[in-house]
Amino acid sequence: MKIILASGNKGKIKEFEKLMPNDDVVAFKEILGDIEIIEDQDTFKGNAIKKAQTIYDELIKKGHKDIIVISDDSGITVPDLNNEPGIYSARYAGENASDKENNKKLIENLNKNNYQKTKAYYTACIAIIYKSQVYTVHGWMHGNVINKEKGEGGFGYDPMFIANGFDKTLGELGYEAKKEFSHRTKALNLAKKVLDVIL
Ligand code: IMP
Repeated sequence: MKIILASGNKGKIKEFEKLMPNDDVVAFKEILGDIEIIEDQDTFKGNAIKKAQTIYDELIKKGHKDIIVISDDSGITVPDLNNEPGIYSARYAGENASDKENNKKLIENLNKNNYQKTKAYYTACIAIIYKSQVYTVHGWMHGNVINKEKGEGGFGYDPMFIANGFDKTLGELGYEAKKEFSHRTKALNLAKKVLDVIL
């Protein structure tokens, strides 16, 4: 099955390809080139729908038929830091900030508030569009965020996140462990159930 992924995030694209080994997952850029999607909604769900809808509409305009578009809007929320960075996770340190810069800002904020470690959770909302109908599902992963980076695995905030039940960061555990229980895996398992019903 060919699925167009409405994401330009390399870490996410890699994870989706691994999570859907039996499907042909194509990043939208390979078909449409660069398209800027302004994430101006105030929820993960709103932004996930906006991304999927933008790419779906562009593909339909270009004559593509019978397409399945999926998007993922995700991020990390730290309740003790006023729920930051939340939907601003990708641009916490500013527009086009790198993962390193975002992590640095989160570390600074934790230190400013005297937290070496505090509760945090990842959210992933996946939107699916097929035959102009929109479907959404969510997945979460709970744990703690620490005020330093450990390990090189994963992407984004993974070197700072320790999932419940573990004593190592996702950066130290690496992707094979993360994929067993991540927010994205949980959301995608639900998305696969939706696809089973609608296709
Ligand atoms: P989005 O592409 O606008 O949804 O932004 C997602 C941002 O949230 C990424 O750039 C990361 O900073 C963060 N994020 C989402 N999922 C993960 C994950 O699985 N690991 C680490 N960081 C993540």
